[in-house]
Amino acid sequence: MVDVELAGDVEVEGKCAKCKKSICCNSINQKIPTPKSKEDFDHLLWQVSHENINIFKDADGWFLHIYTPCTHLLPNGACGIYETRPWVCREYDNDYCEYDESIPDASEFFFSTHKQLEKYCRKRFKKWDKRFKLYE
Ligand code: SF4
Ligand code: SF4
Repeated sequence: MVDVELAGDVEVEGKCAKCKKSICCNSINQKIPTPKSKEDFDHLLWQVSHENINIFKDADGWFLHIYTPCTHLLPNGACGIYETRPWVCREYDNDYCEYDESIPDASEFFFSTHKQLEKYCRKRFKKWDKRFKLYE
């Protein structure tokens, strides 16, 4: 995450200084339980139908990816609350981050639309289109 000192006289070194849009400060990745049932995936379909919500799976499991820039991100890419930034920001490791590879490219699955996830569900579940009959 970009150092607030970027806004002052001291230049940030390395990768974060080159990452002008501070990519990692523009979204939230929230881990979710591994979806297994048709009900689970039906719920994800509802979530991915909302703007700026994506769903992905990588080596660490399944995540909601919510595209929503942090309100503390300054126009120059620095953090406006650097001294008191949350723990998750302090812990974030830039060894191999979104600057190196985008989340869609680094993921096993990445769904940004209802249509994409529904296509996956149809492949995964033979009777996907009959799922609502369970509740009738
Ligand atoms: S995406 Fe990586 S390079 Fe860019 S600000 Fe975040 S940690 Fe630094
Ligand atoms: S608090 Fe600062 S480091 Fe954390 S996401 Fe917001 S701008 Fe980035």
